[in-house]
Amino acid sequence: MNPQEEIYLHKLTRREFRQRMQSGQLQACILPVAAVEQHLEHLAMEHDWRSVNEVARRVAQRLRPRVLVAQALMVGVSEHHMVHPGTLSLRPGTFLAVVWDLVDSLIRAGFSNILVLNGHGGNIAPARAVWDQLLRQTWRNVHFLSYWDVLTQDDARELLRSGHRLPEDLPGHAQEFETAIALAAFPENVRQEALTDQKDPTPALASPQTGQELLQRIVDRLTEYVKQMISGDRVAPVPPYHP
Ligand SMILES: [Zn+2]
Repeated sequence: MNPQEEIYLHKLTRREFRQRMQSGQLQACILPVAAVEQHLEHLAMEHDWRSVNEVARRVAQRLRPRVLVAQALMVGVSEHHMVHPGTLSLRPGTFLAVVWDLVDSLIRAGFSNILVLNGHGGNIAPARAVWDQLLRQTWRNVHFLSYWDVLTQDDARELLRSGHRLPEDLPGHAQEFETAIALAAFPENVRQEALTDQKDPTPALASPQTGQELLQRIVDRLTEYVKQMISGDRVAPVPPYHP
């Protein structure tokens, strides 16, 4: 891989990174955050990490060489899944401390536009609770967005056979949405026998075609989102201070 074309921050040497940043070429960084947790009987526990990285990779490839992916945090807030052994969970404070430190590292590396791209529902409430404070402290264009946030109610109605709605039903834990994305992008993570042989029948409604279409729409819209961050048309507003 030509280092000018590389999309993963950790694959670069310090010199390659320095040269690309100093030349003004690097304009945004995507920091995927996810979870390692049970996904019913049929999906591998890495699902949230795998899916958000798939989306981040495709967006960065579309915007190459302006955007890097910092693949730095695989786990998230999953206490609500700990009854299923194998789930790995961070306490909310730990998760936020790590995200904050990673954002700070990216800012010190020279990025002004940072998209924290989320792949796990349990991370949303903790992040929302502190985002104002993070913006006040960093004064940078730092966004927190779940990758399914760019879909609409019409997308769900058109594509999902399970009748799941937006935004309240997405991503829908290991349901049709997540299963379809796995079938489309990393089918080795779906155990076919377990998919049809479990109490909940809705994950089996998923198809790879649905997953491809969902991914296409997500990647198209997120690419546009990051482009707008770079152009200055989408700025995370620093909330007002008390007078
Ligand atoms: Zn999930």
